[in-house]
Amino acid sequence: MKPIKKLLIANRGEIALRIHRACHEMGIKTVAVHSTADADAMHVRLADEAICIGPPSATDSYLNIPNIISAAEISGADAIHPGYGFLSENARFADIVELHGLIFVGPKPEHIRTMGDKVEAKRTAGALGLPLVPGSDGAVSDVAEAREIAARIGYPVIIKAASGGGGRGMKVCASEDQLETLMQQAGSEAKAAFGDATVYIEKYLGNPRHIEFQVFGDGEGNAIHLGERDCSLQRRHQKVLEEAPSPVITAEERARMGGIVAKAMADMGYRGAGTIEFLWEAGEFYFIEMNTRLQVEHPVTEMITGIDLVREQIRVAEGCPLSVKQEEVRFTGHAIECRINAEDPRTFAPSPGLVTQFHAPGGMHVRVDSGLYAGYKVPPYYDSMIAKLIVYGTTRDRCIARLRRALEEFVIEGMKTTIPLHRDLIDDPEFLEGAYTIKWLEEWLARET
Ligand code: ADP
Repeated sequence: MKPIKKLLIANRGEIALRIHRACHEMGIKTVAVHSTADADAMHVRLADEAICIGPPSATDSYLNIPNIISAAEISGADAIHPGYGFLSENARFADIVELHGLIFVGPKPEHIRTMGDKVEAKRTAGALGLPLVPGSDGAVSDVAEAREIAARIGYPVIIKAASGGGGRGMKVCASEDQLETLMQQAGSEAKAAFGDATVYIEKYLGNPRHIEFQVFGDGEGNAIHLGERDCSLQRRHQKVLEEAPSPVITAEERARMGGIVAKAMADMGYRGAGTIEFLWEAGEFYFIEMNTRLQVEHPVTEMITGIDLVREQIRVAEGCPLSVKQEEVRFTGHAIECRINAEDPRTFAPSPGLVTQFHAPGGMHVRVDSGLYAGYKVPPYYDSMIAKLIVYGTTRDRCIARLRRALEEFVIEGMKTTIPLHRDLIDDPEFLEGAYTIKWLEEWLARET
């Protein structure tokens, strides 16, 4: 046991604020690090200390490892929480943090490394007994070999970058005559984007749902699952709205699949929070990747389990056992999260700028995670997500009714936001039925505009 007294938050925006809140509830002091563009950010104002680590460009600030480590040393922080994005899945960063005698609030560096390479991740998941999408048994470089694999699993296939992420570096290939060209394109694009040309092939599933399981390990061979989230509502492979539980997963299926993923994490000796992502089609799960960090959509899991995931991450990092046993985890009611971006709700063109009015909805079971306030200027340099609205209800219908009411109340002026998109989306009869897959939102958008 090594209690954390002061934690450095190596992130920005709503997640930095989220981490700050968990720390202060635990009596832990916080250190915000920020770029010059974020000097007025909410989490910077609320943190006990703030240190500027560089100019706006993320490469020079939020990804600047020497400056972040220096900030930790100067402030006397004993731990670093990386949030999501930026350095959160950078195994070298985790190594460096630990080499400096600081606590990394995250998984063991070797697990970040394994799961960060999608080819390695698939191999590991297969060895741990998780069901995989049929495909190549590892990386593919040779076109003749790619042809053989694609013929065996059947077209269409998807060519994916081993180092890919954020929905980038994927090519769907419908037939053999396109395979060579797309393989080359995928390889060179992956090299340019991720510095690694390695690609692999898998069956392109026609119309699946994206269903992911939240897992937690203590690093000592104990692990639990906290149920699933349905993240099928996506645009360009980016999640737009997430819900828990999934409208299509039964309690028995949750317990069965959750048991499999929790056992896999226990066998691995996994430490901290993780998410195991599956595609789900015709009642079958197919592993696609594991994220070794907190996810944007973690609050929907918090709402239906009552477990504070950031608190749990910090406790595990301190060396505490998991605060609940699997049989103590209760899934109650339904939660939905809307990601609100500073974007045009139809064209999705970025719309940063000055927030002239801000009024967050409130009332029972309504949560807004956002660093916005009136007078704040959304900088143009980073992700366009400016707020998350998370709503709970005892049933899915009641959750949606409350979400509709909360979206009515939400006021953000001075820029375009995706609030109107969410208002329309949750009135769609197919959404109301929960009858959607990963293709549904793009088709809906094409229809609506
Ligand atoms: P990333 O790390 O870039 O998010 P993922 O492997 O998690 O990549 O895939 C992101 C999304 O791409 C999935 O949610 C799904 O919409 C789509 N996708 C990935 N693999 C497949 C597949 N084999 N068949 C169909 N769609 C896929």
